[in-house]
Amino acid sequence: MLENLKQQLLIMRTQLNPPPRYIIVHHSATDGTLLSVNEYHRQKWSFKSSLGWYAGYGYWIDFDGRITQLRDDREEQAATIGFNKCSINICCRGNLDIEQPSAVQIKALNGLISKKQLEYKIPNNNILGHREIANTLCPGKYLFNWLCKNYPSSGFSGRIKDDMRDV
Ligand SMILES: [Zn+2]
Repeated sequence: MLENLKQQLLIMRTQLNPPPRYIIVHHSATDGTLLSVNEYHRQKWSFKSSLGWYAGYGYWIDFDGRITQLRDDREEQAATIGFNKCSINICCRGNLDIEQPSAVQIKALNGLISKKQLEYKIPNNNILGHREIANTLCPGKYLFNWLCKNYPSSGFSGRIKDDMRDV
């Protein structure tokens, strides 16, 4: 019986991806709740995580800074085409192109990034805003400017910085 269990664990393990190499930051682009995003993604992809969520991100950070884990760090995500098997995707609630992230949201994001960087030895250059690798405004200019200030430019297309005057 123990052998059976070991076998099962091995199978589960091999379905997981290698340790993540990137952290990709997103905004939800609306004020909608996690449950509404979850429902939207369920209808779009119906791709349920091992933690029971349909939302494609690895983590969700609410306005009050509360963090909800949606997918295992080594589980496939549904957030960034081409990077879903090698990245942790963190989504901050809100349209951060037109409003600033809240101070507690930034504090939570900073803490989560640091924790995951340490856990998986992810260098600063591999902390990316979604817009750096896709044609999108995500994670919004305010959050993207924060990323640019806090993490040096990446090895991809280079960061397209928004006008910093608004910050
Ligand atoms: Zn995004």
